[in-house]
Order: sequence, then structure tokens, then C-alpha cells
Amino acid sequence: MEILKTKKHMQEWSVGKKKTSKTICFVPTMGYLHQGHISLLEKGKPLCDELVLSIFVNPTQFGPNEDLDTYPNNIENDLRLAEAAGVTVVFLPQKEEIYPDDFQTRISLDFLPDHLCGKSRPVFFGGIVTVVTKLFNIVMPDVTIFGKKDYQQFLIIRQMIRDLDLNIKILGGEIVREPDGLAMSSRNAYLTTEQRESALSLSRSLKMAEQAIAGGEKNSGVIVKQLTAFIQSFSQTRIDYICFCDPQTLEPVKFIDKQTLLSLAVQVDKTRLIDNIIIDPIQ
Ligand code: AMP
Repeated sequence: MEILKTKKHMQEWSVGKKKTSKTICFVPTMGYLHQGHISLLEKGKPLCDELVLSIFVNPTQFGPNEDLDTYPNNIENDLRLAEAAGVTVVFLPQKEEIYPDDFQTRISLDFLPDHLCGKSRPVFFGGIVTVVTKLFNIVMPDVTIFGKKDYQQFLIIRQMIRDLDLNIKILGGEIVREPDGLAMSSRNAYLTTEQRESALSLSRSLKMAEQAIAGGEKNSGVIVKQLTAFIQSFSQTRIDYICFCDPQTLEPVKFIDKQTLLSLAVQVDKTRLIDNIIIDPIQ
């Protein structure tokens, strides 16, 4: 496994592979790898000749009061896990490599970022789409894989690929959970034992909603009220949003009579957690 730290080396490597008709699968991450990340690498491994992982904590997607400075890292462990997953190259740039002092471009989308996480994190998706575009230009992948835990991010990157005619196939990876249901996240490392208990309110809410809908409840407002009371009954929780919406457009849905995305964001003390499920109601 090679570790490349500059754009030049990464691009030269990719151009070399293209010349010999090798295909490249790319999984971008912010590191502190867990089984959720590994599942994306495992999905990508058989699809292409080369498997590239990037580890870069992207400063432009963090707001002023968010956790950029404390974001967890353990690069030695990440490299061990990457090698075991069959990664051929890790792209590991420094901040200055991606954002030189005179950097001034930002890519934006018109509609998808107006919903869910975009409402409370105004710079978030602009930062993500910009860095992912740069990473695509540096790594030049044929295939890229994003986790559906960050469902809105997956939709936004898919849309950006379409809108900008990028010749990249995007695939989504299913959410990987801890045995008790908590969606895996690098940020779970912040949680104390008590907060970890509160964090379970997210995945349990999704199950509750699924059961309510299977039992015939179709009014999203009624279920949102139930889930709000449930999540608030756990200590240190502050709900950012609980939203039933269209899985393609993310427009809010009042009556759940077709496939619907239920997406949640909850702050447990200072740790912001998200989770989601796609629900198919019994017609
Ligand atoms: P991050 O390092 O958190 O930016 O995540 C990098 C990639 O891993 C993104 O495509 C995430 O959606 C994906 N990912 C993170 N957590 C999970 C999970 N629990 N299950 C599946 N994919 C995940």
C-alpha cells in the first residue's frame, strides 16, 4: 500500500494507471476509520483494479462552533485497517495542499442543500461538494462509494456528478450499525457511557416509526410528535430535526403513502449525531 501526500504524486499515479487501462475505485473519508468506512472499501474492492482511500478532515465543511479542532484521529490504526481492506493507495494530504492561501472557489447546488442538515449547517454542503470535486480531479476515479448514513450527502454528490457531467459511477453503501443499533460514526468516540445510552434514542426512534407506520399510522406529524417526546426523554439530547421526506428531492412529506425517508439529527451534549431509514409503507 502506498501513501501519497501531494496532489502531484496522486495525479501522476492515477494518470499512470489510466495509461495501462486500470480502473480506480475511490472512497473519501475524514479518517478515524470504523466498520462503516471499511464496508465501503469492501464494496469497492472487487469493482476496480485499484482501491484509493483518502483521509482528509476538510476544514471548509465545518462551521465556526463545530468540532474541526477536536475531530478524532488515529492515522496508524487507519493505515492498518486500510491495508487489511486491500487499499492500494491512501491519499493523505495536508490542509495547505488542498487549500492554498489564494483558494477562492466554491461549488454550490440550488435545492438539495436547503433541507435537513443544510438548514442548521449553512456552509456544510458547499464545503463537501467543493472538496469532493477537488478529490475527484486529483484521484480521477471510475467508481466512487459514499455511505447512506450521510444520505443527504450521497444525494448531493450524485446530483453534482450528474450536473457537471463527471464520468464517475457513484454507489451507495448501507448503514453499518453497532450490535445495539447505534449507527457507526467517528464522532461516537466523543460519547460518555451515559451519552452513549442517549445516542441509542436515534436508532430506536427509527424502529418506533417503522412500527407505527406498519401499524397503519400515515400522518408524519403524529409520528414526529411521538419521536420528539421519546428522544427528549433521554438526557442531554437536543433535537435538530426529525423529518419525513421524499427520498429523491428531500421535500417534506405529510402523508406516508409511498417510499419515504425518515431522517434525524440530534445533538447529544456537544456531539451531533445523524441517522436515517427508508420506509416502505404497507399500501
Ligand atoms: P466520514 O469519514 O464520516 O466523512 O465518512 C466517510 C464515508 O463513510 C462517507 O461516505 C460516510 O457516509 C461513510 N460512513 C460513515 N459512517 C458510516 C456507517 N455507519 N455506515 C456506512 N457508511 C458510513
